[in-house]
Amino acid sequence: MIFTPNAIRADEDRLRREVREFLKSELPADHSPGLGMSADHDPAFSAALAARGWVGMALPSRYGGHDRGAVDRFVVVEELLSAGAPIGAHWIADRQTGPLILRFGTEDQRQRFLPEIAAGKCWFSIGMSEPDAGSDLAAVRTRAERGDGGWIVNGTKVWTSGAHINHYFIILCRTSASEDDRHHGLSQMIVDLGSSGITINPIPFLDGSHHFNEVVLEDVFVPDELVVGEVGHGWTQVTSELAYERAGPDRYMSVFQLLQQALSHRPELVAEHAAAFGRLVARMATLRQASLGVAVAIDDGEAPAVQAAMVKDLGTTFEQETVAVLRDLIDEPVSVDDHRDLFASLLARATLTAPSFTLRGGTNEILRSVAFKGLK
Ligand SMILES: Cc1cc2nc3c(=O)[nH]c(=O)nc-3n(C[C@H](O)[C@H](O)[C@H](O)COP(=O)(O)OP(=O)(O)OC[C@H]3O[C@@H](n4cnc5c(N)ncnc54)[C@H](O)[C@@H]3O)c2cc1C
Repeated sequence: MIFTPNAIRADEDRLRREVREFLKSELPADHSPGLGMSADHDPAFSAALAARGWVGMALPSRYGGHDRGAVDRFVVVEELLSAGAPIGAHWIADRQTGPLILRFGTEDQRQRFLPEIAAGKCWFSIGMSEPDAGSDLAAVRTRAERGDGGWIVNGTKVWTSGAHINHYFIILCRTSASEDDRHHGLSQMIVDLGSSGITINPIPFLDGSHHFNEVVLEDVFVPDELVVGEVGHGWTQVTSELAYERAGPDRYMSVFQLLQQALSHRPELVAEHAAAFGRLVARMATLRQASLGVAVAIDDGEAPAVQAAMVKDLGTTFEQETVAVLRDLIDEPVSVDDHRDLFASLLARATLTAPSFTLRGGTNEILRSVAFKGLK
């Protein structure tokens, strides 16, 4: 397997400068940057970004998208994450729900959801994990049974990021029992998070923030027109959906602002530990090349699933190690509530949330097994 080095082209660099200008004018002066993709949920920011054509940018223009490629999206996402911009509202819909509906959805679903996603106004969550189904996703027990004109769904989803603020989630559920092959008989459905029969219970994060939830579905009616793809073929679809979310800059840039703050505001610390900081910056630059390589391969029509799994494994490991290195170098207590020292509060937050970096989107052990099977 080869990761070919790539350079950003002149037109892509122009796009980068436009995004930077936009961020300068759009982010409030007192903007408090977030840690990568766990940034704030700001509907006005998402709508403004979409108005510039930078949400759903790889979707076809006939569905409200902009016919751009994966590298253009890479450039935009990299700038947003560098600034710690509030991308929470449109993030999941832009990264994976849009491409999933484009690929497997009905024409009706494409026309109904994609323009709203590209406008930054329709927000999705992911309804895969359950209390006993995480790495072993085929163990999902949420069940959909035939009703009049649709399906009646019962079950419990867990760790559902943003379910308390988003409009819909796409669930993976069992639509028929399969004794011999657990990967058969699974389906994906779009569920309105405001439907009758849905209860959303918050699960507080270690740093006290409300990010994810338990979502209980009791006799929730899902009309036939909201089944995504073919009934019983959800497994193939869900594995391709997971590939959309693995190799982007979000998998190594959760610590970008943290490093940036140290480099800009702790010159003595950086001078004293120049080699340690040099190693971190060099690793980030290498990961960036690998992630860009995946985007280039996607634009070339390839399906670089193994490379994507490796970027996520290496990228999230780098993120955790960065937090550990900085914690070792800082010989002082830090607090999430330190409003005077952004570096200290980001380090406190990163210390509390870093364990999740290698879990979300599939754990590193599972990614290594994906990479191993692909390399055999
Ligand atoms: C911040 C965050 C946000 C999330 N958001 C969402 C969301 O929006 N929607 C959603 O559906 N899910 C979400 N998740 C859930 C996430 O996808 C799961 O946590 C993840 O898939 C692991 O599942 P699990 O927690 O059940 O752990 P388990 O699957 O129980 O794994 C426990 C440990 O065992 C290891 N392990 C398991 N199986 C194997 C194996 N075969 N070989 C080697 N090691 C193994 C794992 O690597 C892990 O270290 C989120 C998680 C986090 C942390």
